[in-house]
Amino acid sequence: MVKAVVGANWGDEGKGKITDMLAQQADIIIRFQGGANAGHTIVNKYGKFALHTLPSGVFYDHTTSIIGNGVALNIPLLFKEIKSITDRNVPMPKILVSDRAQMVMPYHILLDAYEEERLGGKSFGSTKSGIAPFYSDKYAKIGFQVSELFDEEVLKDKVDRVCEQKNILLQHMYHKPLIDPDELLETLREYKKMVEPYVCNVSLYLDQAIKAGKTILLEGQLGTLKDPDHGIYPMVTSSSTLAAYGAIGAGIPPYEIKEVITVCKAYSSAVGAGAFVSEIFGDEADELRRRGGDGGEFGATTGRPRRMGWFDCVASKYGCRLQGTTDVAFTVLDVLGYLDEIPVCVGYEIDGEVTTDFPVTYKLEKAKPVLKKLPGWKCDIRGIKSYEELPENCRKYVEFIEEQIGFPITMVSNGPGREDIIYRKSAVRR
Ligand code: GDP
Repeated sequence: MVKAVVGANWGDEGKGKITDMLAQQADIIIRFQGGANAGHTIVNKYGKFALHTLPSGVFYDHTTSIIGNGVALNIPLLFKEIKSITDRNVPMPKILVSDRAQMVMPYHILLDAYEEERLGGKSFGSTKSGIAPFYSDKYAKIGFQVSELFDEEVLKDKVDRVCEQKNILLQHMYHKPLIDPDELLETLREYKKMVEPYVCNVSLYLDQAIKAGKTILLEGQLGTLKDPDHGIYPMVTSSSTLAAYGAIGAGIPPYEIKEVITVCKAYSSAVGAGAFVSEIFGDEADELRRRGGDGGEFGATTGRPRRMGWFDCVASKYGCRLQGTTDVAFTVLDVLGYLDEIPVCVGYEIDGEVTTDFPVTYKLEKAKPVLKKLPGWKCDIRGIKSYEELPENCRKYVEFIEEQIGFPITMVSNGPGREDIIYRKSAVRR
C-alpha cells in the first residue's frame, strides 16, 4: 500500500508533521524529489527538528528511510543531518540511498550563488543550495549518479569532461576561481566512502516491499504551486512536487499509489518571489507570522520570514486537483483562534472578471483577491480530540473551505505534535 503526502500550495503546509504522524503505521518512508533547499519541521518526544534531506520517518525504529532517485542528494549534508539527530538521542535510523540518485556537486552550490549574484534584483530567490544547477545538469545529462562513484575510471573521465565545461563558465561568465579536477575527484572518493554502506537498488527493494504488503509513504517537498509544469513558473522549484512524480522519483508503478494525502494549511504562507494573490502585509501579516506554525512562520532551512496570506480557495482547489487528492489534511487550524473574523480568498478578479480557476502566471500577476469573511471562534482548540467538540464556527470554517475546494478534509491538525490530529468523516467523495 503506497500513500503520498504532498502539499497543495507553496510548501510549508505541515507535510513533515503529517508524515511523521502517518509513519507510526508505515514501514518505509521515501523522499522522491527536491533536495536540502526546504525543510520539514517535526515536533516529537526527542524535541523539535528541522529536516532537510531525511524523510520524516527517521524518528521511529520500525521504519526504513529512503532517499529516492528523484532527490538532489547532497552527501555531506545528509550525513551532517543524520549526526544532528543522533547527537540528540534519536536512534540511528535505517537509511537507504538509491544507486540512481544524483549528487549535488560542490560547484552546483557555487554556481547557484554566482547566478543569484549575477541576476541581482531579478533573482528567483534561490536558497543557494545548488538545486537549480543540479537539475539543469541532470537533464543536460552531465549529472553524477551515486552508482558512478563505484567506477573510478569512468568517474575520472567524466570529472575531467565536466570540469572543462564548468570552468569555461566560471572563467568567462562569472569571473570566479576554477575547479581543480583532481580535488573534485578526491571529494567524490570521500562521498563514496560516506554513502557506500547505504547504497541500494531502491526500485527493486520497493517492488519486493509492495509484494510483501508493506506500507510505504512517499514524502513530497514544497507544494503544487512550486511544480515546474503546473506551478507559478518561473518562480518554481526544479523538480516536480506532484504525487504523480512520486512514482518516478521512487521507482514504483503509478497505479500503486492508492492514497494521496494533500496537506493544506488553514491560512497561506509562501517563500521566495512570485505572485501570491491572498497575501497580507503590515501588522496583520506580522501578527499571523508571529503566531503561525509552531513558533512563527520562518523558513526551516533559511530562517527567512515567510510571506503571509489568507487561505486561498482558488489556489488550493487547483493544488488538490493536480495532486489527485484522496484526502486533505487541514493543518495549523489552532493558530487562527485569535481572529474575530477570518478572511478567505474565494475568487480571483482578473481584468474585471471573477474566476475560481487558477490561471497561468501572467494572468495570476494581475489577479486581485475576492475575500469573504467568516466568523472566528475566539478560543484555543489545541487538545481537542473529536471533530464534534470543535467550536461551531471552527467547524463551519473547515466545511466552508471543503465545499470551496471540493476535496474531502478527513484530517484536521490542531497542534504541531503527532497526537494533535482530529479525524473526520467527510460528506465529499471523489
Ligand atoms: P512542511 O515543509 O510542509 O513540513 O511544513 P513546515 O515544517 O515548514 O511548516 C509547518 C510548521 O507548522 C512547523 O513549524 C510545524 O511544527 C507546524 N505545525 C504543523 N502542524 C501544525 C498544527 O496543526 N498547528 C500548529 N500550531 N503548528 C503546526
